[in-house]
Amino acid sequence: MAVRKKYIAGNWKMNKLTDEAVSLAKEIVEGAQKVTNCKIMIAPPYTALSEVKKIVKGTNVLLGAQNMSNEKSGAHTGEISIDMLKDVGVSAVIIGHSERRIIYGEKDDFINSKILLAIKEKMDVIFCVGETLKEREAGKAFEIVTNQVVNGLKGVTEKDLSFVTIAYEPVWAIGTGKTATDKDADDVHKVIRETLEKLYSKELAQKMIIQYGGSVKPENAGALLSMENIDGALVGGASLKAEQFLAIINSIK
Ligand code: PEP
Repeated sequence: MAVRKKYIAGNWKMNKLTDEAVSLAKEIVEGAQKVTNCKIMIAPPYTALSEVKKIVKGTNVLLGAQNMSNEKSGAHTGEISIDMLKDVGVSAVIIGHSERRIIYGEKDDFINSKILLAIKEKMDVIFCVGETLKEREAGKAFEIVTNQVVNGLKGVTEKDLSFVTIAYEPVWAIGTGKTATDKDADDVHKVIRETLEKLYSKELAQKMIIQYGGSVKPENAGALLSMENIDGALVGGASLKAEQFLAIINSIK
């Protein structure tokens, strides 16, 4: 079985002014200095990226963005292009977060176009999938997540998949304090891995990093991260406090 290195990412969402972001980044960088058993990424708001880059440069903490345009440049008022992200030192981007899907109406094909652009431009992607409470209660979680994975990865070759991490984030667990049980989360991760095996190969499916996201906290991280198919976490709320984010990182066995 492939050994997969854990990957912990912090999605700061629409929080932190530049000074606050710099302070938080400093605390994380300092606390994570000796961490070698996992990949770490933080995704501050766009406005703080340049300053946070100065803090993470040369450290083991990568700089991420929370979204990007599916277009390269041009007349797209209010959008941020991949070149702009690269320009400020971003090396990974979160695509298809449920808040983008639900609040801003992003659909699978639109998300797919962003993933294809990111890969073309050699940018790492955290590709988010997850079912709503209604879909879970209707017994459709596996089906919904499988479709999101298949549609989001259309046109992505086996070679290109090395740029992609998948984050399973049940919508009902995001920011709600409700976490999927370790077993429920692992079951969906297993379905995602089986889907990747069908789409690509067993070898590749075994290599793929699949994060869990949804109210991950220091208290539940250890158990979630020790599940067979859970290879890391995409953390929202708890990534806004260095102490909590570092405790999640340190909970990896
Ligand atoms: C997220 O936004 O990706 C997330 C998982 O948020 P939270 O940890 O706050 O549930």
